[in-house]
Amino acid sequence: MGDILFENDVFNILLQRYRENKLAHAFLLETNSLDSCYKDLIKFVKYLSCPYEYNDNCDNDNCHNCELLDSGNLPSFIKVDPDGTLIKKGQIQEIINRFQSIPIFSNYNIYVVNECDKLNSSSANSLLKFLEEPEDNILGFYITTNKMNVISTVRSRCQELNVYYDLAKTDYKYSSVVAEYLNSVYKNEDAILYNKVEALNLLSDRSEWIDFFKEMLYILYSYLKNKSNEFNIRLLNEMSDKEIVKIEDLIKSVLKYLQSNGNIELILDKFVLEMRDLHA
Ligand SMILES: [Zn+2]
Repeated sequence: MGDILFENDVFNILLQRYRENKLAHAFLLETNSLDSCYKDLIKFVKYLSCPYEYNDNCDNDNCHNCELLDSGNLPSFIKVDPDGTLIKKGQIQEIINRFQSIPIFSNYNIYVVNECDKLNSSSANSLLKFLEEPEDNILGFYITTNKMNVISTVRSRCQELNVYYDLAKTDYKYSSVVAEYLNSVYKNEDAILYNKVEALNLLSDRSEWIDFFKEMLYILYSYLKNKSNEFNIRLLNEMSDKEIVKIEDLIKSVLKYLQSNGNIELILDKFVLEMRDLHA
């Protein structure tokens, strides 16, 4: 499991590793907000690319690099987003072609693969050159909302960071359902029966169950960070932080099964059985 970072931490932790000369060649950033994570990451890219002393709002009139980066034209930086539902091999080839030459205006060639869970095996294979024989002047950042969905050839070669952003209470759509569900199955001998009779009726389809478990994960993160149990979930009062972290891992594997079309009832049963082992 990677480090869990909050809010702006991703900038600070990368900066710290850079200063200690311990920057990995490739990072896998798992986050609940692709946009916020990318914004924080760009601050670090700016730090590395700007020839002047770092400043959040470098004066563009005087700084060619920051101006180019802001307009998406810095030659030593490429961001790749999915083209439709996939990141295609040609998009990866573009990175490889451009980064055959060493960076001219800055010390690093930097690429970002946004929603890297959309890499298929052929586009991921094209990346292996960077991941297996990394060059000192190339840095890669892979961003995803669920690292379980990232192809293992990429995932296993990246250093993992988990970047979590606080959601406003009003951003939660399923908090009351999450609380009802967790309070109903926690320490309940009949939890399997509850799944069958009640839980399956709480939500209507797979995509709702995916959002439900994602919010459950964010509620747990938020609890670990702020120690406030705002949705009155009993297990949060009774379990240790270490046990709660194990539930987080369990939720991530549940999300993986949900996203790969597993049977929802079996997935809920797996969840309550494995949770039972955690508080046994
Ligand atoms: Zn600058």
